Amino acid sequence: MINLQGKRALVFGVASEDSIAWAIAQKLAQAGATVTLGYQKRFLSRLMQLVKDKPWIESWVECDVTVEEDVKKFFATVKGRYDVLVHAIAFAPATALQKPIIFTTAEDFATALNVSSYSLIRLTHYAMSVLNKGSSVLTLTYLGGERVVPGYRVMGTAKAALENLVRELAAVVGPAGHRINAISAGPIRTLAASGVPGFDSILDWMAHSAPLKRNVTQEDVAKAALFLLSDLASGVTGEILHVDAGYHAVGVPPDLDKIVVPKAQAAPNPPMP
Ligand code: NAD
Repeated sequence: MINLQGKRALVFGVASEDSIAWAIAQKLAQAGATVTLGYQKRFLSRLMQLVKDKPWIESWVECDVTVEEDVKKFFATVKGRYDVLVHAIAFAPATALQKPIIFTTAEDFATALNVSSYSLIRLTHYAMSVLNKGSSVLTLTYLGGERVVPGYRVMGTAKAALENLVRELAAVVGPAGHRINAISAGPIRTLAASGVPGFDSILDWMAHSAPLKRNVTQEDVAKAALFLLSDLASGVTGEILHVDAGYHAVGVPPDLDKIVVPKAQAAPNPPMP
């Protein structure tokens, strides 16, 4: 049993009861930790429903991670020292997700990477002043950062940058005794996921092809998060842990002969712009 009694966590990324961050927050609380939430203003009413009657929630503080002043204010508002930081944040403009990556504008590219990747630097930077020695930082990534996943588009590049930042930041914060890791989660139905075109087909394909023959749940991710955020992972940093029912390990699904599209029916390559 992991005991986080007396530990305090900062969790960013709760937007609804389906949020992966909410599952992680609840798992931390079950282990005895208390939680402060950093939330985006547009999700306040949903958040108010969630925090009701949860004595383990210390407070909730509005914070848009793209606004430096908000982040400064957040860390000035939360009082005392913390042991855990969870970054479960991603966003890409719909205009970038709906067209092939070759049409991505510089502005949409910058937005996606600012919110989804740079924010890890910003939060880790400011968190350093409130984190106890031996603290643990966790972010969430996806296979689209390593391989092409249809519909994921600019978010794949954002996740690739995020994963590299996990390694870079691990090297920077390690000497002060802090750890930083990522979980590469399989696809899960959440608000953010609903913006990815073809998401339902991705869910079906992963469940079909993954060694465990199912999709993962928020609970699967939260359990692995609890391990990485606890002392059981005291020697683990700079790591990307796949929690995806094993899908990342599969090159070719075992029943390829039954599912391969006959050559005559295969779609032609789309025309180049
Ligand atoms: P979600 O919609 O519940 O969470 C996304 C969060 O990002 C929201 O809480 C939103 O408020 C926050 N956010 C976006 N822009 C922000 C900003 N400017 N300032 C502050 N917060 C901002 O969806 P989720 O699926 O739980 O996503 C959490 C993380 O998990 C994301 O990094 C996502 O890429 C990652 N992930 C999700 C899946 C999946 O299939 N759902 C798979 C792998 C990784």
